Amino acid sequence: MIALSLAEVAAVVGGEVVLPAGAGGTTGAEPGAVAGAGTTVTGPVVIDGREAGPGSLFVAFVGERSDGHDHAAQAGEAGAVAVLGSRPTPLPTVVVPDAREALQRLASHVVEQVRRAGGLTVVGITGSQGKTSTKDLLGAVLAHAAPTVATRGSFNNELGMPLTALRVEPDTRYLVLELGARGRGHIAELTALVRPDVAVVLNVGQAHLGEFGSREAIAEAKGELVEALTAEGTAVLNADDHRVAAMASRTRGAVVSFGEAEGADVRVGGLRLDRLGRPSFTLATAQGDVPVTLRLVGAHQALNAAAAAAAALAAGVTPAQVGEALDAVETLSQWRMELTERADGVVVLNDSYNANPESMRAAVDALVSLGADHAVRRTVAVLGEMRELGEASPEEHRAVGSYAAQRGVDVVVVVGASAQGIADGAGQRAVLLPDNAAAVAWLREHVAEGDAVLLKASRGARLDEVAASLQ
Ligand code: ATP
Ligand code: MG
Repeated sequence: MIALSLAEVAAVVGGEVVLPAGAGGTTGAEPGAVAGAGTTVTGPVVIDGREAGPGSLFVAFVGERSDGHDHAAQAGEAGAVAVLGSRPTPLPTVVVPDAREALQRLASHVVEQVRRAGGLTVVGITGSQGKTSTKDLLGAVLAHAAPTVATRGSFNNELGMPLTALRVEPDTRYLVLELGARGRGHIAELTALVRPDVAVVLNVGQAHLGEFGSREAIAEAKGELVEALTAEGTAVLNADDHRVAAMASRTRGAVVSFGEAEGADVRVGGLRLDRLGRPSFTLATAQGDVPVTLRLVGAHQALNAAAAAAAALAAGVTPAQVGEALDAVETLSQWRMELTERADGVVVLNDSYNANPESMRAAVDALVSLGADHAVRRTVAVLGEMRELGEASPEEHRAVGSYAAQRGVDVVVVVGASAQGIADGAGQRAVLLPDNAAAVAWLREHVAEGDAVLLKASRGARLDEVAASLQ
């Protein structure tokens, strides 16, 4: 973060500095002195006291079960120099009516300061699936070119976004933000805090369909990202998804498209998968062709890479740098299409981070592409429940099962009664097991040399436990 005195923090968030008894307005530099109003916050800004370090600002929230203010002293021991909260604590505290809103205002301020002083390009990424993958790819490409801050994991909501933005340093040139939406207005709220210069929309699928009601409503919400651009901004839109392509009419910025479609500005061509399902392809761009060979698994990663490339080009990175950086990306965040080849030849594809109908199909495709090679004898898909699908749930589970069967997956191991629909859809090829322990036992007994095993379900199903037993 940029260095801010407590008085500056208070001014930005509209709060009041309250010093602990005995603090006398000193800087805290003298041994034994109690830090006062002259205290400077240098970051990191944390909401978990244990993650505080020297110079930290600890933001205290009052939750249902715990009150952050009670952990202020502990944060202080870990190095925090001040607290942002709704009442005084043993540390110098900026007292505000609403700590969350204050955190957001502070994030907004820090980004604007760095933007003005040094030139910071902010890239926002949204979509139903592939946000984290694309964010990781783009983060790697941009970091290759200049100091970059990117969302960690999927920290993409009204708390995670400001915390990410607050990691920006004076020398940061790129800020890559994953933005999630669970309803209309969510993305507009986030972009009102931190305005994007480049806005990437990946796709409009069925993730969170339950909350939104319809795919049109999802498109409406995701499109808020491109509405936040100024005329100098650039919208990066998926040419292969008509709901996304249609968002071109909702932005004042320039529009750049990516995808396999004829006429896409960054066009994926010559897509091939290697023995382990890793794509190689050429990105045709106005600035020349970029050959890419990813170390990541699945054809869908080629599209995420195309989106990342289009955004990087819009942010001023050269095509050569883009190609080089994409080739070098080793792994994405944990449990996303993690490929392990065991000493005994069993290939494990751990995609247990999350699941929805589209990503299930993409993962099944990746598994089948492994099976297309003679090195793999048998393909096994271990699948669990897809949550948050609302009314469409039973039908979507059945459809994923029949998709797996139709694509020729040899065995579909369905874990948990809540995923029963997948077994119904897969028919003869299905093995229905009650829980993770049963899945571990089944795999121990049945998986042998030459098998490729995919694991995938919503996070709550915790299939990573099953994956760990295999890896
Ligand atoms: P979340 O909303 O959970 O944060 P996300 O949008 O960040 O998800 P990722 O974590 O990148 O998405 O990927 C989620 C799942 O979707 C993974 O199983 C991944 O393999 C799959 N996936 C990634 N990109 C695509 C894509 N372009 N099309 C279909 N499936 C995809
Ligand atoms: Mg994510």
